Amino acid sequence: MSRIPIEEDPLSTGVLAGDRRALARAITLIESAKPDDLRRAAMLISSILPETGKALRIGITGAPGAGKSTFIEAFGLHLAEHGQSLAVLAVDPSSSRSGGSILGDKTRMADLARHPKAYIRPSPSRGTLGGTARRTREAMLLCEAAGYDVVIVETVGVGQSETAVAEMVDLFALILAPGAGDELQGLKRGVVELTELLIVNKADGDLKGAAGRLAAEYQNALSLLRPLSAVWMTEVLMCSALERRCIDEIWQAVSRHRSALVDSGELAARRRNQARSWLWRGVNESIIEHLRDDPTTQTLASNLEKQVVANELAPAEAAAGLIAAFRSPRQG
Ligand code: GDP
Repeated sequence: MSRIPIEEDPLSTGVLAGDRRALARAITLIESAKPDDLRRAAMLISSILPETGKALRIGITGAPGAGKSTFIEAFGLHLAEHGQSLAVLAVDPSSSRSGGSILGDKTRMADLARHPKAYIRPSPSRGTLGGTARRTREAMLLCEAAGYDVVIVETVGVGQSETAVAEMVDLFALILAPGAGDELQGLKRGVVELTELLIVNKADGDLKGAAGRLAAEYQNALSLLRPLSAVWMTEVLMCSALERRCIDEIWQAVSRHRSALVDSGELAARRRNQARSWLWRGVNESIIEHLRDDPTTQTLASNLEKQVVANELAPAEAAAGLIAAFRSPRQG
């Protein structure tokens, strides 16, 4: 395969120089589904890869209304005051379904969006959740290459995209708020199992007492879960994003987590495992895409599906038949 020399792509140079417009164009490129763009995007990611890995990668999730955007804004401004730069990306499953978006809207974090040390990128509104997650990971790599110290990947907390996000970040944080009626709900969805930092927001005014009770409840529930890491026990912290209180405590916890993982070698191991799982995610996704795009297999698939639904054929046998049909023309 002939390759255009990577260094000739001005986008790559622009991203590495920290040029925000180049970064924005690069992210638009990786979101594109056009074959030419896909090739260029793949080369771009390969070319910046050696410059990635330096940022602190944080996943933040929580139900709508928990205070994610208020918190990210407070947290981001706190970081900026301490000389750190921050990029915020979003994986929003609602946008691929409805074309609308719960997350990623710049107006949600107006102060932060205006800050020269912050970069906020709305969620891509096209594509499958798997594709969106992959592109978000690539956008995260681009932000790292552009020199951002911290990258936050935000999700809406409905349980679909959290696993994918947990597989691209170093620390997965869950934001809860009292009075949202979601006490211990996260546990059922499995989101708490991914969480290493649990933030109880809205610990202010009339909600303060309820926030304390919510934090205690989760502290109890967490003691029943096996920690994800040998060197870190999930911490429960309270804050008020609105009043911008206890934000520094959360930053301290993030930094402690970072040190624990770096010192033990766990961060490097985690990232290696993540890279491996993204390889296989990519393989799965691409096989499914090819299967769906192949007209012969499409017809067979719908017939097999009917037989499976009618209980005339075992799903495993149907799957094997489909894969065999998909492979045979390429082998012969
Ligand atoms: P998101 O949907 O999770 O991004 O939530 P938002 O950040 O948009 O916040 C939802 C609502 O909760 C808004 O009305 C916020 O003003 C409010 N809110 C956010 N953080 C706090 C907080 O710390 N204390 C209180 N009392 N309200 C908050």
